[in-house]
Amino acid sequence: MAKNDASTANHLHRQDQTLSRSSSSLPPQARVTVAIIGAGPAGIGMARVLHDLAIPDVRIFERRSVGASFKLWPGTTHFITPSFPSNAFGLTDLNAVSFDSSPAHVLRREHMTGAEYAVYLEEAVDAFRLDVTTGTDIFGLDPVGTDIILHTSQGEIRARFVIWAAGQFQYPNMALPGSKHGIHSSQIRLWSEYPGSEVIVVGGYESGIDAAIGLATAGKSVTLLSRSAPWESEDGDPGVALSPLTCQRLNMALQQKRPIKLVRDADIIRIERRGEQVVLHAADGRVWTTQSFPVLATGFIGSASLIGHWLEKDSEGRAVLTGHDESTILSGLFLVGPEVCHQGHRLSFIYEFRQRFAVVGHAIAGRLGIDTAPLDRYRARNMFLDEADCCAHESVC
Ligand SMILES: Cc1cc2nc3c(=O)[nH]c(=O)nc-3n(C[C@H](O)[C@H](O)[C@H](O)COP(=O)(O)OP(=O)(O)OC[C@H]3O[C@@H](n4cnc5c(N)ncnc54)[C@H](O)[C@@H]3O)c2cc1C
Repeated sequence: MAKNDASTANHLHRQDQTLSRSSSSLPPQARVTVAIIGAGPAGIGMARVLHDLAIPDVRIFERRSVGASFKLWPGTTHFITPSFPSNAFGLTDLNAVSFDSSPAHVLRREHMTGAEYAVYLEEAVDAFRLDVTTGTDIFGLDPVGTDIILHTSQGEIRARFVIWAAGQFQYPNMALPGSKHGIHSSQIRLWSEYPGSEVIVVGGYESGIDAAIGLATAGKSVTLLSRSAPWESEDGDPGVALSPLTCQRLNMALQQKRPIKLVRDADIIRIERRGEQVVLHAADGRVWTTQSFPVLATGFIGSASLIGHWLEKDSEGRAVLTGHDESTILSGLFLVGPEVCHQGHRLSFIYEFRQRFAVVGHAIAGRLGIDTAPLDRYRARNMFLDEADCCAHESVC
Protein backbone atom coordinates (compact mmCIF):
# COMPACT_ATOMS: atom_id res chain seq x y z
CA MET A 1 0.00 0.00 0.00
CA ALA A 2 1.29 3.47 -0.85
CA LYS A 3 2.43 5.70 2.00
CA ASN A 4 0.01 8.41 0.85
CA ASP A 5 -2.84 6.03 1.37
CA ALA A 6 -1.85 5.39 4.97
CA SER A 7 -1.61 9.07 5.79
CA THR A 8 -5.02 9.72 4.20
CA ALA A 9 -6.63 7.10 6.41
CA ASN A 10 -4.86 8.44 9.49
CA HIS A 11 -6.00 11.92 8.62
CA LEU A 12 -9.61 10.76 8.36
CA HIS A 13 -9.38 9.03 11.75
CA ARG A 14 -7.59 11.98 13.35
CA GLN A 15 -10.11 14.47 12.02
CA ASP A 16 -12.88 12.54 13.75
CA GLN A 17 -11.00 12.34 17.06
CA THR A 18 -10.19 16.04 17.05
CA LEU A 19 -13.79 16.96 16.47
CA SER A 20 -14.98 14.71 19.26
CA ARG A 21 -12.71 16.48 21.75
CA SER A 22 -13.88 19.98 20.92
CA SER A 23 -15.49 21.69 23.89
CA SER A 24 -17.17 24.94 24.81
CA SER A 25 -17.91 26.56 28.15
CA LEU A 26 -19.12 24.74 31.26
CA PRO A 27 -22.83 23.97 31.43
CA PRO A 28 -24.33 26.92 33.29
CA GLN A 29 -26.02 24.64 35.81
CA ALA A 30 -24.89 21.36 37.24
CA ARG A 31 -28.32 19.87 38.05
CA VAL A 32 -31.27 19.39 35.70
CA THR A 33 -34.53 17.50 35.91
CA VAL A 34 -33.95 15.71 32.61
CA ALA A 35 -30.63 15.38 30.80
CA ILE A 36 -30.90 14.22 27.20
CA ILE A 37 -27.64 12.98 25.72
CA GLY A 38 -27.28 13.82 22.03
CA ALA A 39 -28.78 16.47 19.73
CA GLY A 40 -29.71 14.21 16.83
CA PRO A 41 -33.29 13.44 15.76
CA ALA A 42 -33.86 11.24 18.83
CA GLY A 43 -32.67 13.81 21.37
CA ILE A 44 -34.43 16.73 19.68
CA GLY A 45 -37.72 14.88 19.13
CA MET A 46 -37.62 13.66 22.71
CA ALA A 47 -36.93 17.16 24.07
CA ARG A 48 -39.88 18.47 22.09
CA VAL A 49 -42.24 16.00 23.78
CA LEU A 50 -40.97 17.01 27.25
CA HIS A 51 -41.38 20.67 26.25
CA ASP A 52 -45.01 19.99 25.27
CA LEU A 53 -45.52 18.36 28.66
CA ALA A 54 -44.07 21.49 30.34
CA ILE A 55 -41.50 19.45 32.20
CA PRO A 56 -39.11 21.97 33.76
CA ASP A 57 -35.36 22.03 33.39
CA VAL A 58 -34.81 19.79 30.39
CA ARG A 59 -31.45 20.12 28.72
CA ILE A 60 -29.76 18.38 25.79
CA PHE A 61 -26.03 17.75 26.19
CA GLU A 62 -24.20 17.33 22.90
CA ARG A 63 -20.52 16.57 22.31
CA ARG A 64 -20.24 18.41 18.98
CA SER A 65 -23.12 20.35 17.43
CA VAL A 66 -26.81 19.89 16.61
CA GLY A 67 -27.17 17.16 13.96
CA ALA A 68 -23.45 16.33 14.18
CA SER A 69 -23.77 12.76 12.86
CA PHE A 70 -25.51 14.02 9.71
CA LYS A 71 -22.80 16.58 9.10
CA LEU A 72 -20.33 13.66 9.01
CA TRP A 73 -22.09 11.77 6.22
CA PRO A 74 -20.34 11.61 2.83
CA GLY A 75 -21.45 14.65 0.82
CA THR A 76 -23.13 12.51 -1.85
CA THR A 77 -25.13 10.34 0.58
CA HIS A 78 -28.86 11.02 0.70
CA PHE A 79 -31.72 9.91 2.93
CA ILE A 80 -33.27 6.69 1.70
CA THR A 81 -36.67 7.44 3.21
CA PRO A 82 -38.45 10.18 1.25
CA SER A 83 -39.75 13.36 2.82
CA PHE A 84 -43.09 14.85 1.85
CA PRO A 85 -45.02 17.67 3.54
CA SER A 86 -48.09 15.51 4.16
CA ASN A 87 -48.52 16.35 7.86
CA ALA A 88 -51.79 18.23 7.39
CA PHE A 89 -53.52 14.98 6.38
CA GLY A 90 -52.27 13.07 9.40
CA LEU A 91 -49.38 11.44 7.55
CA THR A 92 -46.33 12.98 9.17
CA ASP A 93 -43.28 13.44 6.95
CA LEU A 94 -41.32 10.19 7.42
CA ASN A 95 -38.19 12.05 8.50
CA ALA A 96 -39.80 14.56 10.85
CA VAL A 97 -39.03 14.44 14.56
CA SER A 98 -42.43 15.88 15.48
CA PHE A 99 -45.92 15.79 13.97
CA ASP A 100 -45.83 19.53 13.32
CA SER A 101 -42.56 19.81 11.43
CA SER A 102 -41.40 18.57 8.05
CA PRO A 103 -37.90 18.46 6.58
CA ALA A 104 -39.53 18.46 3.12
CA HIS A 105 -41.21 21.75 3.97
CA VAL A 106 -38.06 23.31 5.45
CA LEU A 107 -35.65 22.08 2.78
CA ARG A 108 -37.82 21.62 -0.32
CA ARG A 109 -36.10 18.27 -0.82
CA GLU A 110 -37.40 14.72 -1.00
CA HIS A 111 -34.20 12.75 -0.27
CA MET A 112 -31.94 15.21 1.50
CA THR A 113 -28.24 14.95 2.25
CA GLY A 114 -26.99 14.67 5.82
CA ALA A 115 -25.87 18.31 5.83
CA GLU A 116 -29.33 19.42 4.66
CA TYR A 117 -31.08 17.39 7.33
CA ALA A 118 -28.83 18.99 9.99
CA VAL A 119 -30.25 22.37 8.91
CA TYR A 120 -33.77 21.06 9.59
CA LEU A 121 -32.67 19.87 13.05
CA GLU A 122 -31.13 23.27 13.81
CA GLU A 123 -34.38 24.96 12.77
CA ALA A 124 -36.34 22.54 14.95
CA VAL A 125 -34.19 23.42 18.00
CA ASP A 126 -34.91 27.12 17.42
CA ALA A 127 -38.61 26.68 16.63
CA PHE A 128 -39.24 24.48 19.68
CA ARG A 129 -36.98 26.70 21.87
CA LEU A 130 -34.99 23.75 23.13
CA ASP A 131 -32.06 24.08 25.50
CA VAL A 132 -28.92 22.55 23.99
CA THR A 133 -25.44 22.66 25.52
CA THR A 134 -22.83 21.72 22.93
CA GLY A 135 -19.20 20.74 23.49
CA THR A 136 -20.15 18.40 26.33
CA ASP A 137 -19.00 14.83 25.85
CA ILE A 138 -20.61 12.29 28.19
CA PHE A 139 -18.24 9.49 29.18
CA GLY A 140 -20.48 7.52 31.54
CA LEU A 141 -22.94 7.75 34.39
CA ASP A 142 -23.64 6.47 37.92
CA PRO A 143 -26.61 6.58 40.28
CA VAL A 144 -26.43 8.74 43.39
CA GLY A 145 -29.49 8.58 45.64
CA THR A 146 -32.50 9.07 43.38
CA ASP A 147 -30.41 11.08 40.89
CA ILE A 148 -27.95 10.10 38.19
CA ILE A 149 -24.51 11.70 37.88
CA LEU A 150 -23.16 12.19 34.36
CA HIS A 151 -19.40 12.15 33.93
CA THR A 152 -18.67 14.69 31.22
CA SER A 153 -15.86 16.61 29.57
CA GLN A 154 -17.20 19.65 31.47
CA GLY A 155 -17.29 18.02 34.90
CA GLU A 156 -20.14 16.23 36.66
CA ILE A 157 -23.78 16.98 35.91
CA ARG A 158 -26.59 15.69 38.08
CA ALA A 159 -30.00 14.77 36.68
CA ARG A 160 -33.21 13.25 38.04
CA PHE A 161 -33.74 11.47 34.71
CA VAL A 162 -31.31 10.70 31.88
CA ILE A 163 -32.47 9.96 28.34
CA TRP A 164 -29.72 8.38 26.28
CA ALA A 165 -30.05 9.54 22.65
CA ALA A 166 -26.43 9.40 21.49
CA GLY A 167 -27.16 7.22 18.45
CA GLN A 168 -24.97 4.77 16.58
CA PHE A 169 -23.16 6.61 13.81
CA GLN A 170 -20.21 7.83 15.87
CA TYR A 171 -19.61 4.34 17.27
CA PRO A 172 -18.50 2.13 14.35
CA ASN A 173 -18.20 -1.61 14.66
CA MET A 174 -14.52 -2.48 14.21
CA ALA A 175 -14.76 -5.94 15.79
CA LEU A 176 -13.69 -7.82 12.66
CA PRO A 177 -10.11 -9.01 13.34
CA GLY A 178 -7.67 -6.83 11.38
CA SER A 179 -10.17 -3.96 10.98
CA LYS A 180 -7.33 -1.51 11.57
CA HIS A 181 -6.13 -2.31 8.03
CA GLY A 182 -9.39 -0.90 6.63
CA ILE A 183 -11.46 2.20 7.17
CA HIS A 184 -15.03 2.26 8.39
CA SER A 185 -17.56 3.69 5.93
CA SER A 186 -18.72 6.25 8.52
CA GLN A 187 -15.27 7.87 8.51
CA ILE A 188 -15.22 8.76 4.84
CA ARG A 189 -16.40 12.23 3.87
CA LEU A 190 -15.92 12.19 0.09
CA TRP A 191 -15.84 9.02 -2.04
CA SER A 192 -13.85 10.83 -4.73
CA GLU A 193 -10.99 11.43 -2.28
CA TYR A 194 -10.68 7.76 -1.47
CA PRO A 195 -7.18 6.59 -2.40
CA GLY A 196 -6.62 3.96 -5.09
CA SER A 197 -8.49 2.96 -8.22
CA GLU A 198 -9.68 -0.47 -7.02
CA VAL A 199 -11.57 -0.74 -3.77
CA ILE A 200 -12.98 -3.63 -1.78
CA VAL A 201 -16.12 -2.92 0.25
CA VAL A 202 -17.11 -5.31 3.05
CA GLY A 203 -20.85 -5.38 3.78
CA GLY A 204 -23.83 -5.42 1.43
CA TYR A 205 -26.53 -3.46 3.27
CA GLU A 206 -27.43 0.21 2.79
CA SER A 207 -24.03 1.66 3.76
CA GLY A 208 -22.07 -0.88 1.71
CA ILE A 209 -24.16 -0.38 -1.42
CA ASP A 210 -24.06 3.40 -0.97
CA ALA A 211 -20.26 3.20 -0.68
CA ALA A 212 -20.04 0.99 -3.79
CA ILE A 213 -22.16 3.37 -5.86
CA GLY A 214 -20.31 6.43 -4.53
CA LEU A 215 -16.89 4.93 -5.25
CA ALA A 216 -17.87 3.61 -8.70
CA THR A 217 -19.37 6.98 -9.64
CA ALA A 218 -16.05 8.53 -8.60
CA GLY A 219 -14.39 6.29 -11.21
CA LYS A 220 -13.16 3.47 -8.99
CA SER A 221 -13.56 -0.21 -9.62
CA VAL A 222 -15.43 -1.81 -6.71
CA THR A 223 -15.69 -5.37 -5.42
CA LEU A 224 -18.35 -5.67 -2.74
CA LEU A 225 -18.12 -8.67 -0.42
CA SER A 226 -21.25 -9.62 1.47
CA ARG A 227 -22.29 -12.48 3.74
CA SER A 228 -25.80 -12.47 2.24
CA ALA A 229 -27.37 -10.79 -0.77
CA PRO A 230 -29.68 -8.00 0.49
CA TRP A 231 -29.89 -6.68 -3.09
CA GLU A 232 -31.88 -9.84 -3.96
CA SER A 233 -34.06 -9.90 -0.82
CA GLU A 234 -37.81 -9.67 -1.28
CA ASP A 235 -38.45 -9.18 2.44
CA GLY A 236 -41.06 -6.47 3.13
CA ASP A 237 -39.11 -5.19 6.16
CA PRO A 238 -36.95 -2.21 5.14
CA GLY A 239 -34.61 -3.17 7.97
CA VAL A 240 -33.81 -6.41 6.09
CA ALA A 241 -34.12 -5.62 2.38
CA LEU A 242 -32.54 -2.68 0.57
CA SER A 243 -34.69 0.44 0.37
CA PRO A 244 -36.44 1.14 -2.95
CA LEU A 245 -34.17 4.16 -3.52
CA THR A 246 -31.03 2.08 -3.06
CA CYS A 247 -32.37 -0.68 -5.37
CA GLN A 248 -33.15 1.98 -7.95
CA ARG A 249 -29.67 3.58 -7.65
CA LEU A 250 -27.92 0.22 -7.78
CA ASN A 251 -29.87 -0.91 -10.84
CA MET A 252 -29.08 2.34 -12.59
CA ALA A 253 -25.37 2.10 -11.74
CA LEU A 254 -25.26 -1.47 -13.07
CA GLN A 255 -27.18 -0.50 -16.22
CA GLN A 256 -24.68 2.31 -16.76
CA LYS A 257 -21.95 -0.35 -16.53
CA ARG A 258 -20.35 1.20 -13.47
CA PRO A 259 -17.60 -1.17 -12.32
CA ILE A 260 -19.34 -2.79 -9.33
CA LYS A 261 -18.91 -6.51 -8.69
CA LEU A 262 -21.31 -7.90 -6.08
CA VAL A 263 -20.04 -11.05 -4.34
CA ARG A 264 -22.45 -12.94 -2.09
CA ASP A 265 -21.69 -15.69 0.47
CA ALA A 266 -18.43 -13.89 1.27
CA ASP A 267 -18.27 -14.08 5.06
CA ILE A 268 -15.09 -12.11 5.83
CA ILE A 269 -13.60 -13.29 9.10
CA ARG A 270 -10.13 -11.70 9.13
CA ILE A 271 -8.10 -8.97 7.47
CA GLU A 272 -4.31 -8.91 7.48
CA ARG A 273 -1.53 -6.85 5.98
CA ARG A 274 1.15 -8.57 3.90
CA GLY A 275 3.72 -6.02 2.85
CA GLU A 276 2.05 -3.57 0.49
CA GLN A 277 -1.11 -5.64 0.30
CA VAL A 278 -4.16 -6.06 2.47
CA VAL A 279 -5.61 -9.60 2.44
CA LEU A 280 -9.23 -10.38 3.29
CA HIS A 281 -10.01 -13.94 4.36
CA ALA A 282 -13.48 -15.47 4.00
CA ALA A 283 -14.82 -18.27 6.21
CA ASP A 284 -14.83 -20.68 3.24
CA GLY A 285 -11.11 -20.15 2.57
CA ARG A 286 -11.38 -17.67 -0.31
CA VAL A 287 -9.14 -14.62 -0.16
CA TRP A 288 -9.19 -11.18 -1.80
CA THR A 289 -6.24 -8.81 -1.92
CA THR A 290 -6.09 -5.07 -2.40
CA GLN A 291 -3.47 -2.34 -2.35
CA SER A 292 -5.91 0.16 -0.91
CA PHE A 293 -7.88 0.17 2.34
CA PRO A 294 -10.96 -2.01 2.33
CA VAL A 295 -14.05 0.04 3.16
CA LEU A 296 -15.76 -1.58 6.14
CA ALA A 297 -19.52 -1.12 5.98
CA THR A 298 -19.81 -3.39 8.98
CA GLY A 299 -22.35 -1.49 11.04
CA PHE A 300 -22.14 0.09 14.45
CA ILE A 301 -21.67 -0.99 18.04
CA GLY A 302 -23.75 2.03 19.07
CA SER A 303 -23.41 4.59 21.84
CA ALA A 304 -25.27 2.46 24.39
CA SER A 305 -21.98 0.56 24.65
CA LEU A 306 -20.74 3.52 26.77
CA ILE A 307 -23.35 2.80 29.43
CA GLY A 308 -23.55 -0.92 28.76
CA HIS A 309 -23.31 -2.02 32.38
CA TRP A 310 -26.51 -0.09 33.17
CA LEU A 311 -28.45 -1.96 30.48
CA GLU A 312 -29.53 -5.59 30.67
CA LYS A 313 -28.77 -7.46 27.41
CA ASP A 314 -30.60 -10.24 25.59
CA SER A 315 -28.82 -13.21 23.99
CA GLU A 316 -28.02 -11.10 20.91
CA GLY A 317 -26.56 -8.23 22.93
CA ARG A 318 -29.56 -5.91 22.49
CA ALA A 319 -30.70 -3.74 25.40
CA VAL A 320 -33.61 -5.19 27.37
CA LEU A 321 -35.91 -2.32 28.34
CA THR A 322 -39.11 -1.89 30.31
CA GLY A 323 -42.41 -1.20 28.53
CA HIS A 324 -41.55 2.50 28.60
CA ASP A 325 -37.95 2.10 27.39
CA GLU A 326 -36.30 2.45 30.79
CA SER A 327 -33.30 0.45 31.95
CA THR A 328 -34.30 -2.60 33.99
CA ILE A 329 -31.14 -2.04 36.08
CA LEU A 330 -31.04 1.72 36.68
CA SER A 331 -34.31 3.51 37.40
CA GLY A 332 -34.48 6.91 35.70
CA LEU A 333 -32.27 5.94 32.74
CA PHE A 334 -34.16 5.77 29.42
CA LEU A 335 -33.00 4.86 25.91
CA VAL A 336 -34.40 6.42 22.73
CA GLY A 337 -33.37 6.13 19.07
CA PRO A 338 -32.25 3.29 16.81
CA GLU A 339 -30.82 1.17 19.63
CA VAL A 340 -34.31 0.60 21.05
CA CYS A 341 -35.53 -2.86 20.22
CA HIS A 342 -38.96 -4.41 20.81
CA GLN A 343 -40.11 -7.93 19.98
CA GLY A 344 -36.77 -8.54 18.30
CA HIS A 345 -37.23 -5.56 15.98
CA ARG A 346 -34.84 -2.62 16.13
CA LEU A 347 -36.51 0.75 15.59
CA SER A 348 -33.84 1.80 13.10
CA PHE A 349 -35.66 4.46 11.12
CA ILE A 350 -36.71 7.88 12.36
CA TYR A 351 -40.37 7.17 11.52
CA GLU A 352 -40.12 4.12 13.77
CA PHE A 353 -38.25 5.33 16.84
CA ARG A 354 -39.98 8.74 17.01
CA GLN A 355 -43.18 6.91 18.01
CA ARG A 356 -41.62 5.97 21.35
CA PHE A 357 -40.76 9.53 22.50
CA ALA A 358 -44.26 10.05 23.90
CA VAL A 359 -44.08 6.73 25.75
CA VAL A 360 -40.93 7.91 27.58
CA GLY A 361 -42.46 11.36 28.15
CA HIS A 362 -45.57 9.75 29.62
CA ALA A 363 -43.49 7.74 32.11
CA ILE A 364 -41.42 10.75 33.24
CA ALA A 365 -44.42 13.10 33.51
CA GLY A 366 -46.28 10.45 35.51
CA ARG A 367 -43.43 10.23 38.03
CA LEU A 368 -43.24 13.98 38.38
CA GLY A 369 -47.02 14.23 38.84
CA ILE A 370 -47.37 16.28 35.63
CA ASP A 371 -50.53 16.16 33.52
CA THR A 372 -50.07 13.91 30.46
CA ALA A 373 -53.05 15.32 28.51
CA PRO A 374 -50.77 17.04 25.94
CA LEU A 375 -49.88 13.55 24.74
CA ASP A 376 -53.42 12.97 23.44
CA ARG A 377 -52.35 14.88 20.33
CA TYR A 378 -49.46 12.45 19.91
CA ARG A 379 -51.78 9.44 20.02
CA ALA A 380 -54.09 11.07 17.50
CA ARG A 381 -51.16 11.73 15.15
CA ASN A 382 -49.68 8.23 15.26
CA MET A 383 -46.78 9.37 17.42
CA PHE A 384 -47.48 7.27 20.52
CA LEU A 385 -46.76 3.63 19.84
CA ASP A 386 -47.35 1.24 22.73
CA GLU A 387 -45.14 -1.81 22.87
CA ALA A 388 -48.06 -4.11 22.11
CA ASP A 389 -48.65 -2.39 18.77
CA CYS A 390 -45.00 -2.31 17.88
CA CYS A 391 -43.25 -3.62 14.90
CA ALA A 392 -45.65 -5.78 12.89
CA HIS A 393 -44.74 -5.79 9.20
CA GLU A 394 -47.89 -6.33 7.23
CA SER A 395 -47.62 -6.33 3.49
CA VAL A 396 -50.14 -8.18 1.33
CA CYS A 397 -48.41 -7.44 -1.93
C1 LIG B 1 -25.76 6.83 5.56
C2 LIG B 1 -27.00 6.74 6.39
C3 LIG B 1 -28.24 6.93 5.84
C4 LIG B 1 -29.39 6.86 6.62
N1 LIG B 1 -30.60 7.10 6.04
C5 LIG B 1 -31.70 7.10 6.81
C6 LIG B 1 -32.98 7.36 6.24
O1 LIG B 1 -33.11 7.59 5.06
N2 LIG B 1 -34.06 7.36 7.06
C7 LIG B 1 -33.96 7.12 8.41
O2 LIG B 1 -34.97 7.12 9.10
N3 LIG B 1 -32.77 6.86 8.96
C8 LIG B 1 -31.65 6.84 8.20
N4 LIG B 1 -30.44 6.57 8.77
C9 LIG B 1 -30.38 6.27 10.19
C10 LIG B 1 -30.50 7.56 10.98
O3 LIG B 1 -29.50 8.45 10.55
C11 LIG B 1 -30.33 7.26 12.45
O4 LIG B 1 -31.30 6.33 12.84
C12 LIG B 1 -30.49 8.53 13.27
O5 LIG B 1 -29.45 9.43 12.98
C13 LIG B 1 -30.47 8.20 14.74
O6 LIG B 1 -30.71 9.39 15.43
P1 LIG B 1 -30.05 9.61 16.85
O7 LIG B 1 -30.48 10.94 17.29
O8 LIG B 1 -30.33 8.45 17.71
O9 LIG B 1 -28.47 9.54 16.58
P2 LIG B 1 -27.44 10.63 15.88
O10 LIG B 1 -28.13 11.25 14.74
O11 LIG B 1 -26.21 9.89 15.71
O12 LIG B 1 -27.34 11.71 17.02
C14 LIG B 1 -26.65 11.44 18.21
C15 LIG B 1 -26.03 12.71 18.71
O13 LIG B 1 -25.40 12.41 19.95
C16 LIG B 1 -24.13 13.00 20.00
N5 LIG B 1 -23.31 12.16 20.87
C17 LIG B 1 -22.85 10.92 20.63
N6 LIG B 1 -22.17 10.45 21.67
C18 LIG B 1 -22.21 11.41 22.61
C19 LIG B 1 -21.69 11.50 23.93
N7 LIG B 1 -21.01 10.49 24.46
N8 LIG B 1 -21.89 12.64 24.62
C20 LIG B 1 -22.58 13.67 24.07
N9 LIG B 1 -23.10 13.62 22.84
C21 LIG B 1 -22.94 12.51 22.11
C22 LIG B 1 -23.66 13.01 18.57
O14 LIG B 1 -22.70 14.01 18.32
C23 LIG B 1 -24.95 13.25 17.81
O15 LIG B 1 -25.18 14.61 17.56
C24 LIG B 1 -29.29 6.60 8.00
C25 LIG B 1 -28.03 6.41 8.57
C26 LIG B 1 -26.89 6.47 7.78
C27 LIG B 1 -25.55 6.27 8.43
